[in-house]
Amino acid sequence: MNNMLPLTRRPANDDPGLSVPMAGRVESAILRVLAYHDLFCHPLTAPEIQHWIDLADMDMSALNAGLNQLAALGLVQRLDAVHPTADPRNVLPSGPFFALADIHVRVARRADCAARAREVMPEALAMGRNLMRIPFVRAVGISGSLSKGVMAPDGDFDYFVIAQPGRLWIARTLIQWKVHRLPNPDLLCANYLVDADTLNLPLRDPFTAVETASMIPVAGGALLDELRRRNKWVATVRPAATPVQPAETPAFPRPVAETLFAGPLGGLIDRALLHLTRYWVRRKVPALPALEARGAMQMTRHVAKLHTRDWRNRILRSYQDTLDGLENKGGMLIDRGVDRSRLLVASAFFYRFDEKQWRAGQPYPPLGTLYAAAVARQAGYNVSLFDAGLAENERGFVDLVDRERPGTVVIYEDGFNYLTKMCLTRMREAALGMVSLARARGAKVLVSSSDAADHADLYLAAGAHAVIKGEGEATLRAVLDALQTGQPLDGIDGIIHAQPVGDGQLATAVATPRRPVLRDLDALPRPAWDLVDMEAYRRIWRQAHGRFSLNISTTRGCPFSCNWCAKPIYGSRYNSRSPESVVDEIADLITVYQPDHFWITDDIFGLKPGWIQRFAELVQQRGLRFSYTIQSRADLLGKGDTLEALAASGLDTVWIGAESGSQRILDAMDKGITRAQIDTLVPRIRALGMRSAFFLQFGYPGETRADIDRTIAMVTGLLPDQIGISVSYPLPGTVFHERMRAALGEKTNWTHSDDLDLMFPGAYRPNFYRHLHRHVHRRVAWARAVKVLRGDAHGGRLRALSVLVRQALPLALGALRLRLEKPRGDAPVMAAAETAGAAS
Ligand code: SF4
Repeated sequence: MNNMLPLTRRPANDDPGLSVPMAGRVESAILRVLAYHDLFCHPLTAPEIQHWIDLADMDMSALNAGLNQLAALGLVQRLDAVHPTADPRNVLPSGPFFALADIHVRVARRADCAARAREVMPEALAMGRNLMRIPFVRAVGISGSLSKGVMAPDGDFDYFVIAQPGRLWIARTLIQWKVHRLPNPDLLCANYLVDADTLNLPLRDPFTAVETASMIPVAGGALLDELRRRNKWVATVRPAATPVQPAETPAFPRPVAETLFAGPLGGLIDRALLHLTRYWVRRKVPALPALEARGAMQMTRHVAKLHTRDWRNRILRSYQDTLDGLENKGGMLIDRGVDRSRLLVASAFFYRFDEKQWRAGQPYPPLGTLYAAAVARQAGYNVSLFDAGLAENERGFVDLVDRERPGTVVIYEDGFNYLTKMCLTRMREAALGMVSLARARGAKVLVSSSDAADHADLYLAAGAHAVIKGEGEATLRAVLDALQTGQPLDGIDGIIHAQPVGDGQLATAVATPRRPVLRDLDALPRPAWDLVDMEAYRRIWRQAHGRFSLNISTTRGCPFSCNWCAKPIYGSRYNSRSPESVVDEIADLITVYQPDHFWITDDIFGLKPGWIQRFAELVQQRGLRFSYTIQSRADLLGKGDTLEALAASGLDTVWIGAESGSQRILDAMDKGITRAQIDTLVPRIRALGMRSAFFLQFGYPGETRADIDRTIAMVTGLLPDQIGISVSYPLPGTVFHERMRAALGEKTNWTHSDDLDLMFPGAYRPNFYRHLHRHVHRRVAWARAVKVLRGDAHGGRLRALSVLVRQALPLALGALRLRLEKPRGDAPVMAAAETAGAAS
């Protein structure tokens, strides 16, 4: 075999671009085997390494040469002769043994565990055969450590069970019942059952491969053989691991009790047991959805997998950490069995996890993520996308990583979507899970998101190699270039990364200088729109709204200083694409995807003097027909002919950060606009045939009942076409957060976008603001209906009348409830904030 690469500190000759040597193919494979078995303190002999190696064409001489090289480099320890005191019961194979460290201790431990395994094996086989006497159990195999010939002092007997289709939950319930009657119930673990129709294992990773290849058949040999036939991928990743053949699989007569559950009643009972177990587990394991998404737990009609400790992913992660330690020690890269030319870019905002947003039926493709994908393509990667937006959960991500084995995974949140700035806890949990799953599969993992920028330590602890801070494209490109050549990351601006020290131990996070923002946005590649399942988005939009809207970005950043507004990605610098580039992209998107409408994601649309006018000119010159929605400020929109130019270019709706009807609160927020500007703007917008929409915010420190009444009077008087109500939310990095820091409770993030929890002691209890939210919506609906009935606004009179009838009672009760609510007396926080607000 001629695939040995010398392990010198020079670029490996199969990848001349690398500035750090890559371990040879054989050496990498040996280290993978030893790193995996090292997790179980299990030193191996050369034939055992050959048995478990994942190369198909391995011969013993190449293996021995590789082991010698690794030993010479100090990466592998060798023990030629085992002293009789280390193996008094003579249970070990003849050596020499190889391990990554502490070879004497590990060999002695293996001898001890092997002796215990030999001793308990007859009992384990007997227990397995007993399982066959339980109704509907059709095959049993021993997995876990015992199947590798060892058993720790606190070990147990792990069984993989195949059950009759349609009766899996009866079988599982009876197994559990039997287990609890054993003198030592902890000794028997049968937490993985599949039915005989579900033998294709869904998880394809080193852990599953080793467990399947090492399984010791106890009974039901034909079905266990079928399991192997259905999972041929195991043989491709562990080609030499010839499965243990069933020595004897005695025929077990079917228990008489099966006849009791044979008919439709048995099917009903089976279903009922599934639902009961689900109900019970859901109460006991709050993280069930995340564990199911990670493949650790599965409760369906065909599979019962209840690994609440997510053992598989923990093993895989430790395995990668061990390889990291070896890379640091050896000063070289180890092939992890991933495809280094492949890159998976993923978003992590799951609309389905946020009921309010999912119900709204207005999902947008992850624009920021698509920019990242385009940058990765420019860097030469073969790029795939995991779009969390429409995904059920994280499971699709795991499957994609297992299928494509990308060398790099970039979790790049769509910073253009304001929802991602909320840093919702369910999304954080998903993103952290994705980081750890990707890392556990050997990928280099990068993260860019508002939440990661604020809590880089969490993401690094989950396994990210680097967190990108601020605007991401240029930094991403620099990090990708460094990864391709094996350069260290510490010379790259704009990241926070974990500095490796010693054997895989991580030092504290190291932040490099912030990277300046891009000034020439036209130089960016177009977002990789082709990776999006556009039809899925179109379907949702059309079903919910009868039109299809897409998102684009024309500017980045905002130079204003509203003191509660977080701008973790683009900051306070304001840069803009040219109107020409924007109109070109809109024209292309219309040609390819035919959207009816665009949401322009900018914080402030068209701030540059003359930009909107030029944009309107180009839209008209090119005869483009589309409508669009923007966000802007009351002071900017009121200037010159801005509104007229917006109307001429097809503007449909403008969202204005009105926030409050009280000038006192606007000033405390450093909002920089006046109530008068809002009051004069709305009629002008309406007169030009456009729609206005207000962002409103309640609960700002210092807000009194009178201020709340002013806000309600403002919206019921001006009647914007839409309102979005929130409560003041101290986001990290803001002046507001700094002022509130001392007063913040344990909860510092919302769970979902409809949470509306006031996370500091406000003037009223948090529930008051939830009622207020509903009440204001009702007041607006009422005022609109009255206007229609008076003939001052368009709309159906019957519909307006029905609104009045339906809303009269809830409105009266809501008003009473709010009126009865007394302000709380947490004066210190409010006084401090008021003072600060008044001073600013
Ligand atoms: S104008 Fe809008 S984006 Fe700018 S600071 Fe204020 S709230 Fe934030």
